[in-house]
Amino acid sequence: MIERRKTRALMVGSVPVGGGAPVSVQSMTTTKTADVDGTLAQVYALKGAGADIVRITCNDAEAAAGLAEIVPRSPVPIIADIHFQYRLALAALEAGVQGLRLNPGNIRNPVHIKEVAIAAGERGVPIRVGVNAGSLDKDLLEKHGAPVPAALVESALHEIRLLEEVDFHDIKISVKHSHVPSMVESYRLLADRIDYPLHLGVTEAGPPPSGLMKSVAGIATLLLEGIGDTIRFSLTANPVEEAEAGRKLLEQLGLRERAGLDLIACPSCGRAEIDVMAVAAEAQRVLEAEKLPIQVAVMGCVVNGPGEAREADIGIAAGRGKGHLFIKGSVVRVVPESEMVEALLDEARRLASEGVEARLAAADSTAEQMAEEAAAELLAVQGDADHVAERRARVTRIARGE
Ligand code: SF4
Repeated sequence: MIERRKTRALMVGSVPVGGGAPVSVQSMTTTKTADVDGTLAQVYALKGAGADIVRITCNDAEAAAGLAEIVPRSPVPIIADIHFQYRLALAALEAGVQGLRLNPGNIRNPVHIKEVAIAAGERGVPIRVGVNAGSLDKDLLEKHGAPVPAALVESALHEIRLLEEVDFHDIKISVKHSHVPSMVESYRLLADRIDYPLHLGVTEAGPPPSGLMKSVAGIATLLLEGIGDTIRFSLTANPVEEAEAGRKLLEQLGLRERAGLDLIACPSCGRAEIDVMAVAAEAQRVLEAEKLPIQVAVMGCVVNGPGEAREADIGIAAGRGKGHLFIKGSVVRVVPESEMVEALLDEARRLASEGVEARLAAADSTAEQMAEEAAAELLAVQGDADHVAERRARVTRIARGE
């Protein structure tokens, strides 16, 4: 279990952040905000992919006007992303947004920052202090010589002080860096100094797969240390991928309940009786559409498959032209290999509606025996791929000096 850092609680619209609330997933639209219908379509897609909160740029008057139409029709709270022009923050508040993100690197006038904080406070709208290594305050950049973690933290603390001076405390903070170790260090330093909730992200992570790896490396490291209240994967990709990745990461870390399919599959090896990659891809395609919160395993052979994947709710392993369908490691049905995916889908649906006990009770009584025979047959044909017996004998001979 991850012991989470204690942070203050705030609300982004209906979504609680900090104070022990579930870690929330954020993403950001890529449409022009003035395109109300296009932006709303993307907001809905992001929600469907697992986003709890969506950020939308508010970069000009047309964008602010667009927000006035988008916010009331959005299925999730909207945060307006503000750079340079504090007036757009005031306009976004008037449009009804549930959160603001201010960049201290480019909104630098304390009077303006305080004016926004007072207006946000009157409406109960939180502000994220969004420090970014790529757009750090130029005085701090000069002082530190580079966007090092201490510089990012100093920028955040300075902005927090300005907000606190007008008694504004609905604050969350991010100190994003594109260099993963610097990002991790920045958040660790900040977490030691304040108890406001933190929004995690590796900025400008780039396209998948490297963008995904950078984001997972930085975000997961901190989440495992208990740091982090909301997250965003900043990928150069369709933002739906960001939301999906964020949601999946939280599920894998046990920080959110599984909302859909978790497909596990063996990496395949010389023992595989099927094209594991093709079957796994097909299983993923048909099962994902069902939106069942189950873990499904696709295993290349019945010799090791059901045992290795016994933690999965349901799975299929191949053996001698047959598919061996198993639930929690017990083989319950044997089907022709060509019907493996179909049988998996059918059993997954029954499992979701009837439960594990009922499906185990309905098992074909001969299935377990057939699986054992298929495994024995495969072993007889393929032998012991690891040559354990011969290796043991050789090791023993060497140890005895024979
Ligand atoms: S389940 Fe079978 S095919 Fe897949 S990796 Fe393990 S031994 Fe190889």
